Amino acid sequence: DAVLELRNIARHYREGAARLDILVDINLSIYPGETVALVAPSGAGKSTLLHIAGLLERADAGETLINSAPTSKMSDAERTNLRRATIGFIYQFHHLLPEFSALENIALPQMINGLDRQEAEGRAQQLLDYLRLGARASHRPSELSGGEQQRVAIARAVANAPHLLLADEPTGNLDPRTAEHVFATLMTLARQSGLAAVIATHNLDLAEQMDRRVTLRDGRIEELA
Ligand code: ADP
Ligand code: ADP
Repeated sequence: DAVLELRNIARHYREGAARLDILVDINLSIYPGETVALVAPSGAGKSTLLHIAGLLERADAGETLINSAPTSKMSDAERTNLRRATIGFIYQFHHLLPEFSALENIALPQMINGLDRQEAEGRAQQLLDYLRLGARASHRPSELSGGEQQRVAIARAVANAPHLLLADEPTGNLDPRTAEHVFATLMTLARQSGLAAVIATHNLDLAEQMDRRVTLRDGRIEELA
């Protein structure tokens, strides 16, 4: 079954008197272990689509199903619980908490999900070791390079063993070599844990390394070769 299914999703914004139809009729299914690149120009609606898929925003019409469960009639609290249990997010800028160490940033979401501190920090350290950041565990984000910050953000996103990973330009802020490295880390993690991933990117070289490529045209999904 699909991890994520978007059915006839529509979303518009208002800008003064104007109506902007950003998503018109979005249909997309993503299966376990599948990596999908979302490649489209700025303003096409990629972030809006990821926010709706990630239960951060509600659509005007249509249905978002996570592991076959329809979410449009759920309460905000139910959607938040489902999101925390099943979805990991990575943004262009890391959004790590500046006052906390790398280890704590990765442990915190697990503690919010009910793990005790020792278990959460143990798993956080394992992830840091796996990402070759073990020696950086006690560093704050400002003490890490851009690539290291983004790898910590990846560790945080996967720490709760999500089924679905959503990433919005995760390498957009990195130089090409670092981008390649961070992206490779992301792909390895996704493939090893059978995660479904949707990654919005402008980088066609990276998109080529994913299982599928889709774009947004006039508010609809089009599959690319
Ligand atoms: P992308 O991620 O592809 O750049 P976005 O989903 O961020 O696209 O935005 C799509 C369009 O919707 C843009 O024209 C943007 O200005 C507009 N938009 C996004 N969020 C809002 C909002 N909250 N209010 C009004 N317009 C918005
Ligand atoms: P990059 O070449 O990847 O951008 P930087 O030149 O920013 O890396 O950093 C090189 C190394 O120095 C990194 O491993 C980073 O952890 C460390 N570092 C960078 N800034 C600081 C800092 N303010 N305090 C401690 N360590 C830092």
